[in-house]
Amino acid sequence: MTLPQLVVEQIDRPELVARIERVLRETLFTSRAYIRPSDVKRLADIEADAFVVFRNDLNEAAVIAHGAELCRQGLGDQAILRLGQVLREFCGSDSWNGQSVLCSELAETYHRLLMVGFFRAHEAIILEEQERIRSAVQNTLHRYNLQIAAASGIARVTTSMLDLGDLLTTAVDLIAERFEHDYAGIYLLDESKQAAVLRAATGLEGRKRLATGHRLKIGGPATVGTSLLTRSYVLVNDVDQEPARLESSWVSRTRSELVLPLLTHGQVAGALTVQCQRPAAFSTQDVPGYQIIADQLASAIENAHLYADTLRRANELSEAYGHLKELDRLKDEFLRNVSHELRTPLTLIIGYTERLARGNLGPLNNEQQNAVDVVVRSSRSLLSLIENLLSMAEMRARKISTAPVSVAELVELTVSDFRLLTEGKGITLRAELVPADRLPKVAVQPDHVRRILDNLLSNAVKFTPSEGEIVVRVWGADGAVFLEVADTGIGILPQEQERIFEAFYQVDGSIRRRFGGTGIGLSLVKDLVLNNGGSIKVASAGPNLGSVFTVSLPAVDG
Ligand code: ADP
Repeated sequence: MTLPQLVVEQIDRPELVARIERVLRETLFTSRAYIRPSDVKRLADIEADAFVVFRNDLNEAAVIAHGAELCRQGLGDQAILRLGQVLREFCGSDSWNGQSVLCSELAETYHRLLMVGFFRAHEAIILEEQERIRSAVQNTLHRYNLQIAAASGIARVTTSMLDLGDLLTTAVDLIAERFEHDYAGIYLLDESKQAAVLRAATGLEGRKRLATGHRLKIGGPATVGTSLLTRSYVLVNDVDQEPARLESSWVSRTRSELVLPLLTHGQVAGALTVQCQRPAAFSTQDVPGYQIIADQLASAIENAHLYADTLRRANELSEAYGHLKELDRLKDEFLRNVSHELRTPLTLIIGYTERLARGNLGPLNNEQQNAVDVVVRSSRSLLSLIENLLSMAEMRARKISTAPVSVAELVELTVSDFRLLTEGKGITLRAELVPADRLPKVAVQPDHVRRILDNLLSNAVKFTPSEGEIVVRVWGADGAVFLEVADTGIGILPQEQERIFEAFYQVDGSIRRRFGGTGIGLSLVKDLVLNNGGSIKVASAGPNLGSVFTVSLPAVDG
């Protein structure tokens, strides 16, 4: 560059510095970095010197380097643009009369070179900045990816575990391994809710602490205590810089720690601590990722608690059930014993009173006959009740032994037993039987057929008015023997026909009072029939048109 030699030797340097300083102050808002007000004066001095030096040596490279330096110092582009203006104004002012053109030209050149240096540096800085941001974003993304992968892996394993001990141990091992931490531990609140106990921890030191039942107070000086109290995370970048803590979750050589509360429904259940031997291993950016893990862990812990609770309740219920079953067994045993004890004398009573009623023990007058008939009827119905109770108890004890039985013979016997009763009530009782030799036998428990018949006939007698008729039919077909008891009594409505086989069910309370009974007869009949491999159905043409009960029992093969 060739510039005319300047004549002026004296420049008003303080004025130049003041003008530059003013510009710098006015443009501070465009600075790229923070410039302290106290630095402004210094920068203005440097800038004025640079211009004066250039005026003397015309060293272009030095001005370019100076522009770059100003950029690195953090000066904004507004400041650089305004500087040119200030220098031109300064050089063109009145005090420079005569030489102002030359000086303005110098200022122009100086400013152009300054801008070249400044914007080159600016461009380099922007490129550097872009590169820094790009790699920071990449690092963050990489970190997030790692965290998400680790979190989902940990969640997958832990949410499927129902044993609390296994769950916690697996969780700390996985967390320490996946994130390459030197230590991980889980504290859970104890029953007092005032302290948390270490429930799982990694490494030898962790195991030692577990063995001694390491506990920390909520709100105590330890990081875990603080996290439990505030229900938020605690991050320690360098434990050496922390005030000495008497009780601590740190294991030896730990330099940095992140503690996260384990929260379920807003309630704190415990805390997770992760620790590293290098300082500043964790940053606040890591917290959301770790909190996801802590939240999943908290709900897995809650599930495990619920499962343990359910298991405990199920055990209690099963114990209670066992107790009830034992009581039930004792009750059945008692019922069986009492029924046996009652049956023997009752059979004797019935035997003798029947002989009395038939006149076998001498003639009876009318009054005596009536009284003895009542005793016979009542004793028979009492015996029937006792037999029913006995059969029920036996059925529940599953005591069944089958033998080939001739239904026709049993029907004949039973019908003749009921004859006295039906005659007394003015009911016709008929049996329509296939001769025994043309009827196959059935494979059932013999007294069961007797109970079936006894109950169906008792009901038929009970629900049929005098002048009515009861017919018992027996026939064989399709590998089964059919037994039917039909009466001309009060009948059963269709909607009641299913329910009468339920235990203790009786069609109508008022009828029950009129007819008596316990409601166990038909349910016992159904159980007996089904347990012997048969089936039962009922039909009725309508009220007062009678009922028909049909039982089928499997015939003996061959
Ligand atoms: P119980 O006869 O002791 O009441 P059951 O179990 O033998 O008990 O019968 C249940 C109910 O079924 C009876 O209360 C009655 O309402 C109805 N039932 C049973 N057999 C007949 C029948 N032959 N005719 C009309 N209703 C009947």
